[in-house]
Amino acid sequence: MHRQSSTPPHIVYLALGANLGDRSASLRTAVERLRDAVAVERMSSVYETEPAYLLDQPHFLNMALRGRTTLDPHALLAFLKRIERDLGRAAGPRYGPRTIDLDILLYDSLALATAQLTIPHPRMAERPFVLAPLAEIAPELVPPGWNRSIGALAEVVRGNGDVLVRIGDLIGAQNNT
Ligand code: AMP
Repeated sequence: MHRQSSTPPHIVYLALGANLGDRSASLRTAVERLRDAVAVERMSSVYETEPAYLLDQPHFLNMALRGRTTLDPHALLAFLKRIERDLGRAAGPRYGPRTIDLDILLYDSLALATAQLTIPHPRMAERPFVLAPLAEIAPELVPPGWNRSIGALAEVVRGNGDVLVRIGDLIGAQNNT
């Protein structure tokens, strides 16, 4: 009997960043690799942003996406780390340069804090380079524990990784829907 593929149950928002090598190519490859376990529904534009925290490093390209997955949060994190490793992210300083950085921003309406994983991502509220792309695809969303929407916060937060320019769509990677 033919088995219908059903929609994966969990909605996740992920952040992608790259500041070494061919940054657009890294984002595109990462999106393609993500599709093995995440059905991508929406992608933000790509933004060029200033580095945060460690300022003496190249500018980043950042974007955010919404997808659906069957993976639980820790399995999703392990999946993201595997992609980071395969794309050549060398171990380096925290907040330092990287070929690709993949973060879980939100997972359904879950609030979770373990040694390995905190959701919502603990620093997303202070990061323009996360808030700007996320506000493009989920402006009205109010993450668990917050008292305002992503869009409202994105309008006022400046400082750690400001957006320099909105570049446009990630060419060569299509939304599923
Ligand atoms: P980073 O250097 O920003 O990639 O941080 C990497 C570490 O942050 C990972 O090894 C994770 O264990 C931890 N971490 C905690 N919360 C999250 C999250 N929401 N998404 C991704 N990594 C997280």
